[in-house]
Amino acid sequence: TSPIRIGIIGYGNLGRGVEAAIARNPDMVLTGIYTRRDPSQLKPSHAGTPVHAMDSLLAHKGQLDVLILCGGSKDDLPRQAPELAAHFNLVDSFDTHARIPEHFANVDRAAQAGQTTALISAGWDPGMFSINRVMGEALLPDGATYTFWGKGLSQGHSDAIRRVPGVAGGVQYTVPVQAAVDKVRSGVRPELSTREKHTRECFVVLAEGADAEAVRQTIVGMPHYFDQYDTTVHFISAEELAREHGAMPHGGFVIRSGNTSDACKQVVEYRLQLDSNPEFTSSVLVAYARAVHRLRQMGQTGCKTVFDVAPGLLSPKSAAALREELL
Ligand code: NAP
Repeated sequence: TSPIRIGIIGYGNLGRGVEAAIARNPDMVLTGIYTRRDPSQLKPSHAGTPVHAMDSLLAHKGQLDVLILCGGSKDDLPRQAPELAAHFNLVDSFDTHARIPEHFANVDRAAQAGQTTALISAGWDPGMFSINRVMGEALLPDGATYTFWGKGLSQGHSDAIRRVPGVAGGVQYTVPVQAAVDKVRSGVRPELSTREKHTRECFVVLAEGADAEAVRQTIVGMPHYFDQYDTTVHFISAEELAREHGAMPHGGFVIRSGNTSDACKQVVEYRLQLDSNPEFTSSVLVAYARAVHRLRQMGQTGCKTVFDVAPGLLSPKSAAALREELL
């Protein structure tokens, strides 16, 4: 069988991650990267990868099996996913949890009309963590589900501190509270407040002449982002920020704690420990692109989520090989 032909839409952190992931999946080939910027200004990691302007995408329709959308959830995906689902099979990583139903409806309308298969909100959360929350509830109906994030760099919270007056640069790490994690793992099913589950740690470079205490107060009191958490602010130099905080690690765990009888506690845990959040997310997107290609071949069109995809469809191995080797 011929390799699955992939197009990358948007070349940021996820775009680079998808490029790296395709190179490790021999049943796929990268047809091209499509960008809204001037293609000649992009430097793909593999020098031979073609970079095209978004305008040329529709003309390449016959050369692309699945698009992997690597734009941002805030402004890019709500527009790009419905637009492109009218013509192409696709996968996206839309992660604004509260707006997933609306995004699903918009993409489904386009995919139904175009008879394409479009899978939204793949990645790790939403994505792999969502699957593990569903499994936990289905297998242990008498129980409680806990999601902890981190230790990891939060893009949204880092952006928020960089907008504070007097801040020249900075990053924010979300850190699970070890005592809370231990309690959950013990099977006692604690009720935990937001403050009890995670702390927030900021590393900030002050602008010249800025008042450190005023900056600290603004950060820790910021509504929604920090006010419900115990937040620590460390002031560091621009050199230290560049040297120590350039990577994008993340991770976390989903734990289901339940009882199958009064005497028997059952605790199930799924854990991620990621050197690079975008590279892992991209690897998930690539596996789901394989599933999307197969679903389309089976005639299953419309919008899908990770809940709709059988695990075997993610694997390059045949169903027979999976039964023999992994069942
Ligand atoms: P990003 O690096 O900011 O890239 C987003 C888009 O911005 C790119 O597609 C690119 O589009 C454009 N861009 C990138 N670098 C640029 C630059 N230097 N100048 C101008 N434009 C640039 O975002 P990301 O880190 O890849 O993340 C994308 C989304 O993934 C996030 O919004 C997040 O919601 C989602 N995500 C989901 C999960 C999950 O588990 N589901 C996990 C992580 C992230 P053009 O090439 O067209 O300009």
